[in-house]
Amino acid sequence: MSVATAEMALTEDARQERQLIGAKAVALGRTVSVDRVRVPVNGTIVDIEIPTVDTVDHAKLGRPVDNRYASSKAMVMNRLKMTGWASATVISCLPIPLTSDSTMEPLRKARVPAVADGEEYSSLTFTNPHLEHSQIGPDAPLACYDFQPIQLATEFQRVYAPHGGVFAFIGTPDDVKNPNWPHRADWEAAKAKAVKWMEQMHREAQSYADQKVFYAIREPHRASVRRLHERGHLKTMPEWLEQKNDTATVYPVCPKCQKRADSPHAVECMACHYILDPQGAYEIQAIDESHAALERLTRATVTEMGISAYVAETIDEKAARLAAGVPKPMSLSAMRLREQMEEVNQSDRAEAAEAIAKAVAKASTPKAPKATQ
Ligand SMILES: [Zn+2]
Repeated sequence: MSVATAEMALTEDARQERQLIGAKAVALGRTVSVDRVRVPVNGTIVDIEIPTVDTVDHAKLGRPVDNRYASSKAMVMNRLKMTGWASATVISCLPIPLTSDSTMEPLRKARVPAVADGEEYSSLTFTNPHLEHSQIGPDAPLACYDFQPIQLATEFQRVYAPHGGVFAFIGTPDDVKNPNWPHRADWEAAKAKAVKWMEQMHREAQSYADQKVFYAIREPHRASVRRLHERGHLKTMPEWLEQKNDTATVYPVCPKCQKRADSPHAVECMACHYILDPQGAYEIQAIDESHAALERLTRATVTEMGISAYVAETIDEKAARLAAGVPKPMSLSAMRLREQMEEVNQSDRAEAAEAIAKAVAKASTPKAPKATQ
């Protein structure tokens, strides 16, 4: 049901009630006054501004209220008013945008941008605590929990710990420029770890480029290489960096039916089932070692694949054999299979002969006279 349809379906009473609630909500307002309090942060006393009330009062709006939750929330709000809170910041020197894996409202929406060229870090600042309603066990009352800005900021540091380069602290982004910023050593260590991660991305991308699988090189690879170069960790940019995926990809055309494959990585023609890439098809087990398509590979390749004994003749052997006018050879495994089949046939023939002999013997033996009743 669309919003418009839902509006149409409202009764006149419901419409009026909704207008009334809306008007009350506007009258209540969301921001009231701001208290200025002094709280200790990192060992120094700082001034902090606290909005005294910033929530909708459901009871005043005539909505049903969970009294136990309301008292739990009031307790949390009072404590926050007494202790105050401090803004927290997360900084990142990673060349990729950061997201958190949390389902908690502010974290689900929060994004730390990729660091820009010429900048030491990108940043995101949390200025308010987050109140979360939660139940510990199905019978427990709904309770209110508060998450301090530093807890929200630290979530990014936790998620990106394997990358390095992400650091959360109480304060604002400008604090990093202060020579007395107390987290300098930790931040430098985080930055060094990020360089290691970007170098690893570079190596991975280079190995893809060496194997000519350009489609496997993703934006984080490119961004890491650009950042390494920009920061002076890399002398020259690799030539594959600006190579676009679509220029590197070739959609195979089936030599048998001339249809173009749906994917640049297709191993088989979907129209006529011709094997386009015998090695790839074998590796994903689309064909087995006895498949004739493998004869289009070279001896060196099938040897490397460990299936040389199964492939009678490879593409590099065919011309020489035809020139010599020799019939097509059998693979070692096919010869072994034929020997086995012959053994089976021989024993089958022996068994058959034995069975016939028995039957003949039986037929020629005079029948025993029927027993009389
Ligand atoms: Zn085809």
